[in-house]
Amino acid sequence: MPVVFLIAILLFLPKALLAADVLIHHANGYADTEQRFNWMTIHDGRVVAIGNGEVPPAEYSSVFDMQGKTLMPGLIDAHGHVLGLGQYRIRVDLVGSDSLQTALGRVTEQAPPGTGWVLGRGWNQVLWPGKKFPTAADLDRVMADRPVWLRRIDGHAGWANTRALQIAGIDNATPDPVGGEIHRDAEGNASGIFVDAAMALIDQHIARPSDDEVRYALDVALKELNSLGITSVHDAGVDTQTLMVYKRMVDDGELSVRIYAMISDAGEHLDAIGKPLLSYGDDRLTARSVKLYIDGALGSRGAAMISDYCDEPGNKGLVFSGQDELDRMVWKALGMGFQVGIHAIGDLGNRMALDAFAKAQRGDSVRYRNRIEHAQIVALEDIPRFAGLGVIASMQPVHATSDKNMAADRVGEKRLAGGYAWRKFLDSGAVIAAGSDFPVEYANPFHGIYAAVTRMDQNGEPTGGWYPGERMTLPEAVRAFTIDAAYAAFQENDLGELRPGKWADFIVLDRDLFKVDEAELWQIQVEETWLAGVRVFPANE
Ligand SMILES: [Zn+2]
Repeated sequence: MPVVFLIAILLFLPKALLAADVLIHHANGYADTEQRFNWMTIHDGRVVAIGNGEVPPAEYSSVFDMQGKTLMPGLIDAHGHVLGLGQYRIRVDLVGSDSLQTALGRVTEQAPPGTGWVLGRGWNQVLWPGKKFPTAADLDRVMADRPVWLRRIDGHAGWANTRALQIAGIDNATPDPVGGEIHRDAEGNASGIFVDAAMALIDQHIARPSDDEVRYALDVALKELNSLGITSVHDAGVDTQTLMVYKRMVDDGELSVRIYAMISDAGEHLDAIGKPLLSYGDDRLTARSVKLYIDGALGSRGAAMISDYCDEPGNKGLVFSGQDELDRMVWKALGMGFQVGIHAIGDLGNRMALDAFAKAQRGDSVRYRNRIEHAQIVALEDIPRFAGLGVIASMQPVHATSDKNMAADRVGEKRLAGGYAWRKFLDSGAVIAAGSDFPVEYANPFHGIYAAVTRMDQNGEPTGGWYPGERMTLPEAVRAFTIDAAYAAFQENDLGELRPGKWADFIVLDRDLFKVDEAELWQIQVEETWLAGVRVFPANE
């Protein structure tokens, strides 16, 4: 066919067809952790065939020469917070600003579009000439029409502009609350600085973000995830507004990461959604899971423990609900056709979650694929119950390397035998779905794979790994971020590997992760990310 002809056809083909009949060749390809290929054909976003050697003769609408680069299935983060990541990123970042002028300049430059609240963090007047606290009037000079609220670096003070003071109804008659202070000028007017408990006077007036603001934040987060090689996220706690915005993004062809939404608790949001949303927009969006909480976090001693914390005798942490209430919520969500993921960190929290599943599943260990999110400290006798009940351990490898010292203080050596115990879970036959818990941790899945395989931090500490007996092998770690994470979302027939019929979600790396030294795993860079046979990173101009 003459070239002009081909170009003419390409120009007039609808966009969907243009993605069809793609040939990827000259790749160092991994279909999974074992099977290799050097070419792959794609039709309508799905893999048609993979193979080695001769490329099948056909007329392809697009041909991509991978020049020998390593290609593997797109990575799945089984526990992250997409809106949280976006909101974190669009906050004005004042860390390191060395003068009031620099700080004000950043407010102007970094304020997200729109008319709503401008939030930020990180200022420290001690680093500024004169070391004086800033005022509302300072902020008014650069932003007077929108409310601005900026947290100090230590989180113990906030700086508001006049618009924010007006919205919060602050005037010179507003008293200092117990445990807090409002800075005032010589006439007694609030100057714009609120300390400790006084910050709530502003915090409580911050408006819920509009749909457009939510969409902007999601978009910022999705672009970052694309750049890290993430093609699917299990979004751990989605409300009705965010779900609706996701749907619109799918409709507009702008959802560049597949979202498996876990609905926030078994209350109003679940009632409003009513039934699972399955495979919306070619598997771009699925909502068939509910996220419940049974306890808090280990660092703040909020995780519920069977026995006292080692570093605070008399304290066993807290449960968010009794067993009956948890049972009722699990029963309700399962009855509506949802999977349940329970946040459980302490050994008591994990035991209660397992008990709730045991009762609700009535002996069925196959159908529900319920999950425990984090499963950080688990009593040794409870670990085999995961496999027994078919409960998935949704774990975040990087938590182990960032928590190691704190965790040892909190629970002591004996209980750490069941702490972040990946090897014991895998050996008992449980499925581990891996994630990062971004933005609590950085979303980069190669940091997670490195932590899973070495149990060391990025400085190589501790040498040989923290409780090295719990290390995963590299193929196990990769499966936890691909096919096993897909299984945790009932998506193993469509995602997680590059096989005929599955979505062509894949990434191109700067080196071969199965050949590099272990110590290098976290440094792997993603050069390209493709979703359904279309490159989403770097984005096309
Ligand atoms: Zn989380």
